[in-house]
Amino acid sequence: MKNTHRKRRSAWIDVTFSIAIIALTVSAIYLISQTTKNEASSLPKKKQAAASVVIDTIDSNYPGIKIITATSNDAYIPFAIQYPQSLHSPFNEAISKYITIAKQNYLTTMEENKKTSSKFTGELNISFETLSHHSGSYSFVLVNSSSTGAENGTTEIRSFHLNPETGESFTIADVLGRDPKNLETLSTLVREAIYNDPLLADYLFPEEVHIQTEPIWANFDNFAITDESLILYFDEYELAAGAVGPPIIAIPLIDINSLLSDRFQLLTEDTDEFAITKDPIKEENTATPSKDKESSSNQGNSDTTEDGTEGSTEEVDNGIKQIALTFDDGPDPKVTIQILETLNKYDAKATFFMLGSRVEYYPEIAKKVQEAGHELGNHTWNHPDLTKAGIAKVRNEINETSSIIENVTGQKVTAFRPPYGAVNKTVRSQTNLPVVLWDVDTLDWKYRDPNQLLAHVKGATKDGSIILMHDIHQSTADGLDAVLAYLQSEGYTFVTVSELE
Ligand code: ZN
Repeated sequence: MKNTHRKRRSAWIDVTFSIAIIALTVSAIYLISQTTKNEASSLPKKKQAAASVVIDTIDSNYPGIKIITATSNDAYIPFAIQYPQSLHSPFNEAISKYITIAKQNYLTTMEENKKTSSKFTGELNISFETLSHHSGSYSFVLVNSSSTGAENGTTEIRSFHLNPETGESFTIADVLGRDPKNLETLSTLVREAIYNDPLLADYLFPEEVHIQTEPIWANFDNFAITDESLILYFDEYELAAGAVGPPIIAIPLIDINSLLSDRFQLLTEDTDEFAITKDPIKEENTATPSKDKESSSNQGNSDTTEDGTEGSTEEVDNGIKQIALTFDDGPDPKVTIQILETLNKYDAKATFFMLGSRVEYYPEIAKKVQEAGHELGNHTWNHPDLTKAGIAKVRNEINETSSIIENVTGQKVTAFRPPYGAVNKTVRSQTNLPVVLWDVDTLDWKYRDPNQLLAHVKGATKDGSIILMHDIHQSTADGLDAVLAYLQSEGYTFVTVSELE
């Protein structure tokens, strides 16, 4: 017994020892391999791991645009990077690519420098400015300043462009209608402006100025357009001495209005003309309000009957005046919420025609719209002109959007509004939802002015009207209270589009 016991115990000890030795060996091999790996791996990686990098995302003041911030407090290689991201991947990828390369260049150079002398601390700051134009187009101007050693730092300016509604980018060629003659005129104007700029006067390299302003589209790649001017950015050291930094030239739009493509032209008093070129379909529908409301004989009647004479229709009677407020292109985390609060204040129900892409981004806001008792409408996934899309795309745009709205809110989508009011037989054949357009266009997307909202509604609204607004513009949210106060004082009740029709 004793023997067996001892024997068993010693066997148990043997096994334990063997396991322990194997474990120790494996750990040792692992540790050695890790150390070797670390030494062999690129230095920037090691450095990055040691520093604390903080990445943060916040909403910007511009609908659909978020600001990403990445900072590192590394004592030797610090950086602070800020850049925009949108709902559209091509735009996001272009910016991310630029940021990644800029950051990598900086880190690599600093690690190289460290091998020779590490007494200079580096610096990388990338920030950006958003410049908007009344067409709804944004120019994002990224300013990339870095220094990697004893010599002066460098500043590079790069622009990115986006129409956040469509996701499309635009270039200087788009701004100038892709017309080479316009490019030549711009080239001449920019050259003049450079020579007349007192800040640049003493520092110019005339040969370089000539080369950099030759009428080649690529020479004017870096630009921003605002309601006042077309701004062109040139590289540092390129056409003037480094002392002046990257030259920036602003050409007033009023001087080049005739060169601009329609959507970039200045707003004039004669806004109708502008509106027709900007969005012909939208205007066409405004002009012929009942054309597309095939299902609503009611609309035709109420068009011709002012207050009191609605007795002839069944739906609208007892002298009650009804109006349907509609909000397109949302949801938006700030604007939609403010609109919900205002609607609640007047106990008003409305219809929200949402974009699937934005519901995916802001599901909790879509849910709040449903919880507040409003009607949910489909406005496609990505806001394309469906009359120019293939049948499969039309179907996807509509079905995917209904699905996500219904998944997120648990409520059925009961109306469809095609982007730009653009609809034809093919589009209609792809959905059973009633197609709902509008007869009062507040043009809130164009004016972005809270006071303008009431002015437009006052002039155009009648019993049975469907009013078009957008819950992505702050000005719409700000102007809504006055609109509801006015309509209520005029005896209107606020209903959804389905209740109206
Ligand atoms: Zn829309």
